[in-house]
Amino acid sequence: MVYSDVTIDDIDDRVIIPPRSRLFGLAPIGIGSSVSEGLISYLIRLAGEHCISPKLMISAELLPQMRGVNAVRHAEFHTDYAKTLQSTGKFAQSFVKVTEQLTCRSDISLTTTLPWHAIVPSISSGLMTQHPKWCSRCLAADRVSGKAPYFRLVWGYKLYQVCLEHQTYLVDECPWCGKHQPFFPDHAVIDRCNYCYGWLGTQAVEEAIINDEQRRWTSLAIEDMVSHGLQARNELTGEMFRGKLMSLVNTYADGHKTRLSEMLGFTRSTMATWITKQRKPLFPQFLYLCHQLGMLPSQLLFDNSAPQNLELAYKPGIKKLHQILPKIGLQEPPKADIYLKLKGICNDANDCRSLTEITAILSLTKTYLSYWFPTECKLISLKHKQSIHRMTIQRHKEQILCVRNITWQLHGQGIYPSNRLVAKAIAPLKMSLLKPHIRATHRQTLRNLNY
Ligand SMILES: [Zn+2]
Ligand SMILES: [Zn+2]
Repeated sequence: MVYSDVTIDDIDDRVIIPPRSRLFGLAPIGIGSSVSEGLISYLIRLAGEHCISPKLMISAELLPQMRGVNAVRHAEFHTDYAKTLQSTGKFAQSFVKVTEQLTCRSDISLTTTLPWHAIVPSISSGLMTQHPKWCSRCLAADRVSGKAPYFRLVWGYKLYQVCLEHQTYLVDECPWCGKHQPFFPDHAVIDRCNYCYGWLGTQAVEEAIINDEQRRWTSLAIEDMVSHGLQARNELTGEMFRGKLMSLVNTYADGHKTRLSEMLGFTRSTMATWITKQRKPLFPQFLYLCHQLGMLPSQLLFDNSAPQNLELAYKPGIKKLHQILPKIGLQEPPKADIYLKLKGICNDANDCRSLTEITAILSLTKTYLSYWFPTECKLISLKHKQSIHRMTIQRHKEQILCVRNITWQLHGQGIYPSNRLVAKAIAPLKMSLLKPHIRATHRQTLRNLNY
């Protein structure tokens, strides 16, 4: 063969060099299946590929790329916000975006709940787990088979409590030292304890086979959502969900939303809240809805044949998910209303209440408010601080006046206004010469009176 007619220009045309990525374009494990990897696990393994600590990678490579997010102090990120990374909130969005940019990949959102954001609220009770949890046997199996150990996305959901493959409960404590694990460990070894370096996966323990049908169904439903992530990302909209609900209302409850709500065991207004007010259901509520309908999430949303012959009748014996999980009854707080209230407080120069007072009145937490309304919260705190400062100055002025008057009075009565006498006179007013501004005023007054 003769290559003489191949020129450099030809090669340039034919060899397309893909753009270089800042970080290694590591592939997430199991994408598109029910055992897909979660974003947190992916980031830990990515740090491992670069031989650095996951915390260092996040603070040096990821956080600096994020607008608004890098203002969050790192300690707060690790204690409060890391758990929302696999949800649908703003941290999930920023982390996915930045990770995709740095690795030149386009499938990172599938390691989070983002494909389902149209119907899953951003932060809500009952969505993500408080501490990392894992199936001991899955991790042990990864190790024994020589595959890369990793944390499944499904494990990150609070309600995913049973591993369907091994029929065991997930655990969230190290089997050796009993400690909860941080979301991002100091070292990039994913299946060892952050504190004692023991293996998190063990096979030895014999456990009873789980026969809690509802827990197993919940795990199945979450696996169903994870494995349909791609379809959800491409197709799912809030409109579509409301359409499905409306067709159920028409088919089974003659168009009465309240009746369908009651048939399914929800409060009377639930369907109207979802359909008319267009609120997203809480995650446990959504799963409960699917459970009551006897359909997996993907069947409810993506099967185009209209649901036929469902045995829809209120089943009083059924355990509600809120019996597994306390806070399910809460609706996601109406953010627009909260925003208006906070804005009102910000614009009212006379309203100098502290953020703590305001969170108590709104029955919310500080974490929630500063997560969603950082600017307003900062302004409220600042106004409160300034008002305290103003009040302090005002009080000092009054005290100074008072000390001066007392000193003059004693002088007028022909008594020497000594430290002791003045101190005694101002004590009932909760003042003391130990305070610098009071002592200074007393001295200055004595000087003015020529003592
Ligand atoms: Zn397992
Ligand atoms: Zn340990």
